[in-house]
Amino acid sequence: MNKKIYLTLLLVSILGSIGFAQHWCGTHQTEEFMERLEANVKYANTHEVRSPDFKYIPIVFHLVADDDGVGRMNEESVFLQLCRLNELYIPVGLQFYVESFNYVNNSDMFNHVVPNVQGGMSSNRVDGVLNFYILAATHDDNVAGYYTGGLDVLVVRKSNFLEENSETSGHEIGHLLSLSHPHYGWEDEPYTPAQYGETVTITTISSSQSPTVPVEIMDDPNCTNTGDRICDTPPDYGFTQNGGNGIFTCNNPWEGIVKDRNGVLIESIPNLIMGYNACTDNYFTEGQIDAMNADYISRINSGSNQQQHFKSGYTPNLNEITEAPNLIYPSVAENVDTYNSILFDWDPVPNADSYIVVISGDADYRIQVNTDELFVSNLEPSSTYGWKVIPVNEVGYCLDLINSNLFFTGNSTSSTNEIEEVNNIQVYPNPTLGATDIKLALDIDKEVELKLSIVSVDGKSIETLGNKNIQAGNSVQTISIENFTSGVYFIKAESQTGTLVKRFVVNK
Ligand SMILES: [Zn+2]
Repeated sequence: MNKKIYLTLLLVSILGSIGFAQHWCGTHQTEEFMERLEANVKYANTHEVRSPDFKYIPIVFHLVADDDGVGRMNEESVFLQLCRLNELYIPVGLQFYVESFNYVNNSDMFNHVVPNVQGGMSSNRVDGVLNFYILAATHDDNVAGYYTGGLDVLVVRKSNFLEENSETSGHEIGHLLSLSHPHYGWEDEPYTPAQYGETVTITTISSSQSPTVPVEIMDDPNCTNTGDRICDTPPDYGFTQNGGNGIFTCNNPWEGIVKDRNGVLIESIPNLIMGYNACTDNYFTEGQIDAMNADYISRINSGSNQQQHFKSGYTPNLNEITEAPNLIYPSVAENVDTYNSILFDWDPVPNADSYIVVISGDADYRIQVNTDELFVSNLEPSSTYGWKVIPVNEVGYCLDLINSNLFFTGNSTSSTNEIEEVNNIQVYPNPTLGATDIKLALDIDKEVELKLSIVSVDGKSIETLGNKNIQAGNSVQTISIENFTSGVYFIKAESQTGTLVKRFVVNK
């Protein structure tokens, strides 16, 4: 293929341009669930539950793939969504950070096969954190996600996870923090004038997601015991479900018409995160924010042996990443002579704790490093690759534009695998066959300063041995490999004049 064609391509990728998807939810707001909510509302009415500082909730993202490891949500998308989620939760005073990723290969979990999916979620869940499962499916094609109180975990379907406004994730976390739907009870048979009349006289309602619920009225004196138990969310008889025709709206089609049983016109709020609607500017009310903060407080104050316990006291790196790294080498459409030893290089950016390097095209690698360079030894000759570097920290990143370069490998193995002053380097024993040290035999032409390091097969720097001034002649360096696990490694020697890489195999 003519490489010049690529030069005309736009070398910038745009992440997260997926639009808003309508949201159905599979959370069952049981009696027990509502009791917890009522307790939180009561607590918030008698205590100061908000604080001037953010409260931080650790999340373990369970990134589930099929049995072959295929289909997993990638980490850079999680970091991007986490930042969006944090923006959604700024008014709440709660922020989330990545405690860790848990990688699960299990087709039954991935495809939501009951009951194995529950068993898998139970055995993978981690105490003290928010357990967030990203799966390919839920129990229903229409369900984007759910919170399950039994395990205190939440599930978001992969295809809904990347929503630009993080709607599904934000909604399910709202449930996890004890909020119910504002249209609680009306999920299955939402309001229509034909069914309920212009003046809604029924006093109870129920759905597959709720037990029997007292119907809320305008300015309800009993609002902590009716509807969604939150007093500043007006009655919602499922108005934005638009009569249950499967099309959500961002307005109440019967606004100005529908009245509660006292004949009072209902003034609805269509755009609540906890609703079912087609709005793009959803939010939480003050009452909902109070209930979530009360739930957070009850969680951190519960014993660490309690399923709903959140650990607290840790403040993540909150400084926002505001720029994407400038890619230095390989640069745009660079022809790289070699293929088996390429040192990727980029400018560090402020507030990044680490970088995810994505190499695409004739490969599909993602490697997370906390340096601003990455040595890669396993690319193919005469191939076309793209690469980009995504800066991340514990609270994610919100950049829409990430620089991306194409480059082309040659078929040479030597040109950067050479140092002018070095005649030869040998590693022995290789393979190590149980040895606890390796020897590096150097044959040096003239005095040279070498920076020595050991790199793993996926390019991570395992150990830096520092700069060593090596005299001309033959010498031997001894390097301990006691803490190394079995596998392939590289010794990398760098000088002013080049880089030299030797492969060795540790077998214990
Ligand atoms: Zn819901």
